[in-house]
Amino acid sequence: MVDRLVNSEANARRIQLVESCFGSSGQPLAVPGRVLVGEGVLTKMCRKRAKARQFFLFNDILVYGNILMNRKKYNKQHIIPLEAVKLESLEDDGHFRNGWVIRTATKSFAVYAATNTEKQEWMAHINKCIEDLLRKSGKKAVEEHAAVWVPDSEASICMHCKKCQFTVLNRRHHCRKCGAVVCSPCSNKRYLLPHQSSKPLRVCLTCYDSLTRAKVLSSNSGENSFSKDSSGEDDSDDDEDTNRSQQETHDEYGSSLKALMRSSTTSPNTMTTSNIICC
Ligand SMILES: [Zn+2]
Ligand SMILES: [Zn+2]
Repeated sequence: MVDRLVNSEANARRIQLVESCFGSSGQPLAVPGRVLVGEGVLTKMCRKRAKARQFFLFNDILVYGNILMNRKKYNKQHIIPLEAVKLESLEDDGHFRNGWVIRTATKSFAVYAATNTEKQEWMAHINKCIEDLLRKSGKKAVEEHAAVWVPDSEASICMHCKKCQFTVLNRRHHCRKCGAVVCSPCSNKRYLLPHQSSKPLRVCLTCYDSLTRAKVLSSNSGENSFSKDSSGEDDSDDDEDTNRSQQETHDEYGSSLKALMRSSTTSPNTMTTSNIICC
């Protein structure tokens, strides 16, 4: 089905539209062979809180951005190559329902759909794209993924020493290996995590110890994974909003997955959303 759309005019028009919605803040998205598979609003768990983000699923990349005007303008574009993505379903937990984790080598995060059906559709479409890509390229799925960061709000004290209270001055930091929220003294070590960065990154003392031990073992057995570079890190969560202060959910935008293509085995009635664009 995706293959049938590759050279279609409708597909080219849709991709053009996505590109224009990001304006100059986005990358060119039209490349040969790329198909827009679906789009919709998902609630993304960010460092500080859950936020509505517009997601676009292409057959080779997942793109998301901040919503400036409902379905008209987006910025802060992020592009995730699907080849390196692994999904993991999340159990419902209080307000956090219909979620799953999007894991990549450099960044992993949780997203939530409005309904369970949408969650299943998103996951199935994304997984199908990943499968097709890996089959075509003959590559193997990426094994190492970045940790999901524990949201700031879940830790009022350091998760390592369990003593240090966080304040405006006593800032929270995230261990890049396990995702825990830790204080500065408990994360004063850096370690090279080559899948995430060419520079050594902040890790908690527990992870530093276990990484160091693992390295000693692996270098004894002849393997080596050593640093190429050494310098600082970026502690910011780069898709934090600057212009919206309260928690947003997909309800605010009343949107959901808009599937632009259906697998030939899916009957139209199995899609629950009303905003399907047929191809
Ligand atoms: Zn601490
Ligand atoms: Zn850690």
